Amino acid sequence: MSDAPQQSPPDLHEIFELDGDPGVELEPVISIDRDEDEDDAELDGEFALDADPPAGVGEDAEPPAGAEVDTNGITKPSRRGSRQGFLTDVIVAMELATQRQVDDALESSRGLGTTPERVLVETGALTQDALARALAERYGLDHLDLEVFSVDMNAANLVSTAVAKRYQAVPVAFADKRTLLVAMADPSNVLAVDDIAIMTGYEIRVAVAPPDDIASLVSRLDRLEDVVGESVSSFDEDSEDDGGEVVALHETSDDAPVIKLVNQLVAQAVERGASDLHLAPDGKEMRVRLRIDGVLQDITSVPRKMAAGVVSRIKIMAELNIAEKRLPQDGRVGLVVDGHHVDLRVVTLPSVHGEGIVMRILDKESVVVELDKLGMADAERERFEAACRETHGAVLVTGPTGSGKSTTLYGALQLLNTPEKNIITVEDPVEYEMAGLTQVQVAPKVGLTFAAGLRAMVRADPDVIMVGEIRDRETAQIAIESALTGHLVLSTLHTNDAPSAVTRLIEMGVEPFLVASAIDCVVAQRLARMLCANCKRRTIIPANVLRESGYSARMELEAYEPVGCRRCGGSGYRGRVGLYEVMTVTPEIQTMALERRPSEEIRDVAVRQGMTRLRDDGLQKVRQGRTSIAEIARVVGSG
Ligand SMILES: [Zn+2]
Repeated sequence: MSDAPQQSPPDLHEIFELDGDPGVELEPVISIDRDEDEDDAELDGEFALDADPPAGVGEDAEPPAGAEVDTNGITKPSRRGSRQGFLTDVIVAMELATQRQVDDALESSRGLGTTPERVLVETGALTQDALARALAERYGLDHLDLEVFSVDMNAANLVSTAVAKRYQAVPVAFADKRTLLVAMADPSNVLAVDDIAIMTGYEIRVAVAPPDDIASLVSRLDRLEDVVGESVSSFDEDSEDDGGEVVALHETSDDAPVIKLVNQLVAQAVERGASDLHLAPDGKEMRVRLRIDGVLQDITSVPRKMAAGVVSRIKIMAELNIAEKRLPQDGRVGLVVDGHHVDLRVVTLPSVHGEGIVMRILDKESVVVELDKLGMADAERERFEAACRETHGAVLVTGPTGSGKSTTLYGALQLLNTPEKNIITVEDPVEYEMAGLTQVQVAPKVGLTFAAGLRAMVRADPDVIMVGEIRDRETAQIAIESALTGHLVLSTLHTNDAPSAVTRLIEMGVEPFLVASAIDCVVAQRLARMLCANCKRRTIIPANVLRESGYSARMELEAYEPVGCRRCGGSGYRGRVGLYEVMTVTPEIQTMALERRPSEEIRDVAVRQGMTRLRDDGLQKVRQGRTSIAEIARVVGSG
């Protein structure tokens, strides 16, 4: 996957200096595969033999004991290259079916004009996947689990879905610059392999996947195209009107593959639950990354030739000025992807290597989590909820971008959202739409800033005001004043811990006595990745490691560490859990605010009064086996 696609379909022959003759002779596939993988094959062979002494030679070799499955859903064969003998022998050797079942299938296949394998599948003695595994072993090819394997859309785009259906074959990755990895149901279909090689101009390396999986991948590719295509096509019509910009797009790209690529990147991001899609030019090509569970992952790259077209396409979708390439722009576009209404917030970022794009994906239909599901411990949650139930005062949530602050606020709003309460929010952007709320989107271009929105809101007689973020003195002032005049104010701040929220507001210029009397509760939070329940491994964290992580431990700790399996894409983590530090503003802390005491002193008092620090809440979650010590160090630091 790391090998970038070098080419889009239209100019393959030119780029690869093929002589333009579509019938150009390509070597038969299986031999290409062997040539390409000679080193690999030897290695694999050695390992297989070492690991499995009784597997001497030939077709009755056992399948590798725990067949080597990598985290991308690839199972390697016990050795490369086609082996002699019958598929049915391999099936028996791999213990996928008994000799008896195979003999029966052989017998009945004779009269039926079919193969024994097919009989085994049809009678239910063998699953499609088991047959695919046997085929892979028989031909010495990789087996792909397409539910796990992350398909490179650039590769998949090289053949039409019609061709993919006809041959039950889909290119799923670039094995190297000249070679496509193609998932096939029937690896012995040499004709299909030849055709795909000619069509794409790439050499082909075959891997085996069950026909149902290939069919569902093909229909997914089909569907993703259609689904995004519909909502996007209206933008074409709209932009047809102002001819100039469209011409520019036509100049920079062949739009069909560009549109297809953009649609699939977006669809893939939505499907994988990514929060952001990054497109960053790096001089040679454009890297495509997704932020999933808070961590950026490389997905693919866009060939340099297509990069400008992709950027233009996205700018048109977000109604940005495609001629403006030197200044950052900010726009949004609503799409329906696979039945979900998603909002994309598009930001263009000019860099020395050209324009990049960051898209934030807001899935408006995502279910808002209830507070107890966020991972806030009971005692903390009770204090937080008690503050939220007050009729006035301010409750603040702090943390860096991406720490889940707004999820916590929405959780609080969910709690408060009853018909007798008038709840108004001013947000940038409105991340979730919640029934029963009046939600206002900040629009600085027309003068609707947080402060302006907040001022207007206060006049609308709200009981509860939610301000997306306090980032300037004016907003801070109005929010605090509102909290003191009979409104419950919920908002967020960028600080590292809860006590710093008090000092930050004072630094922003709000009078200490206002801060002291307005704030009821501050929650600092982070999101840590949760250990994958499927593969996490029991471990003992030695006391010295705990001490290095900043804990004053004298004993080791039994906990879990990440391993990586197919379910978690090899990362060892799946989903996220919140870490919380909930500070109730007590009279002592109010006094310290009035005295403008530093946040460290406030923190010490808060801890004495029962506040669990972020890092300690993290350690609790390590002990509970929900996350790892490394993950706590990553999100909280070791301070
Ligand atoms: Zn796992």
